[in-house]
Amino acid sequence: MNILIFGAQGSGKGTQADLLSKKLKIPHITVGDIFRLIIKEESELGKILASYLNKGRLAPNEITNRIVAERLKKSDVARGFILDGYPRNKVQADFLDGICEIGKVIEIKVSDKEAVERIKDRRMCYCGRTYHLKYNPPKKDVTCDECGKKLYQRDDDKPKEIKERLRIYHEETEPIIADYKKRGIVETVEGERPIQEIHLNIMKVFQK
Ligand SMILES: [Zn+2]
Repeated sequence: MNILIFGAQGSGKGTQADLLSKKLKIPHITVGDIFRLIIKEESELGKILASYLNKGRLAPNEITNRIVAERLKKSDVARGFILDGYPRNKVQADFLDGICEIGKVIEIKVSDKEAVERIKDRRMCYCGRTYHLKYNPPKKDVTCDECGKKLYQRDDDKPKEIKERLRIYHEETEPIIADYKKRGIVETVEGERPIQEIHLNIMKVFQK
């Protein structure tokens, strides 16, 4: 089954998509992670992407669509996938409809206040581990428990960028969730709950 997972920044959708991916044994595809990998390669495409993302802006639809289409051609999605961070707007949703069929849409709801609260204290390590200064702090100062490097804050996790992301989510992404609702495939889950409880609520959708 092809699944989309939606939620504002800080809704915990990445964590939930990971848990769901393990249960359903289908890949969790995070478009933001694919972007970051491409940027690391320092290719021409990587430089173009970096010029947008480093300013906290979203990548252009045309590039994003192309990257997603390439990813969905890989053999590991034969049984389905969980797509996270895409589509973000109507142009992308229409494109996606043209290349595959969506079976289920999971929407995780959190208030803007909660979203900002969760993201502003998020810290990353270069090794890939993520921390939260309040909910999941490193043992020592602001260094990584695993590799000892100093943690950093992603540019798009800074307050001004978070507000802009939330605005885009409300204005561009929520309308496409409304379109999926008309098809009767959306399940909305309350996101201001413990991780395990949210996971169980999502699993109920697939046990029906
Ligand atoms: Zn580390």
